[in-house]
Amino acid sequence: MRIGIMGGTFNPIHYGHLVSASEVCNKFKMDKVIFIPSALNPLKNTFNLADAQHRLKMIKLATADNPLFEVSDIEIKRGGTSYTIDTIKALVKKYGKDTNIYFIIGADAFWEIDSWASSDTLLKMCKFIVTTRPGYDVKKAKTKITYLEISSSDIRKRIKSGYPIKYLLPERVENYIYKHKLYR
Ligand code: ATP
Ligand code: MG
Repeated sequence: MRIGIMGGTFNPIHYGHLVSASEVCNKFKMDKVIFIPSALNPLKNTFNLADAQHRLKMIKLATADNPLFEVSDIEIKRGGTSYTIDTIKALVKKYGKDTNIYFIIGADAFWEIDSWASSDTLLKMCKFIVTTRPGYDVKKAKTKITYLEISSSDIRKRIKSGYPIKYLLPERVENYIYKHKLYR
């Protein structure tokens, strides 16, 4: 088995995450991609962070129509600060040694990997697939994925300013955000 892991805050999930997961899944012939929202990201502040249950629900709405996408609440259930090393250890235990685990990550996030807990061990435990993002050198990249200049922080800013977020994320997620008055 080949499993992709898409970790993040997903505050909220958007088409940048979904396109990246889908294309990597296809290119690396993965059996599935699991989206894992963090409870608390040790490197991010919690300003305007939607409740974990809201973020989880939005990921479920966004991924429901793709049979290759799964959602795991492992980090939310564990609670507190989420460390990827703990999650990968749990997944290796669950799936066994015959499963290859690939952590899908944007260049911006990978750039900070040195500051992650136990990053040396983590880099040995699973392979990293680094995708391109604005402002990061992509000249050496062998294959390129469709690149969408969308970020959760921009979406949150738009909501605060009353700008449209339509076409940046799935309609069901957009409706959920408005219904629950998130990011205002
Ligand atoms: P924020 O703006 O709040 O930091 P974000 O849009 O970067 O949010 P995260 O939840 O921080 O989203 O990202 C989770 C993962 O998805 C990271 O590895 C990040 O690099 C990647 N990612 C985010 N946006 C995109 C995008 N548009 N294209 C490809 N990868 C992305
Ligand atoms: Mg980010």
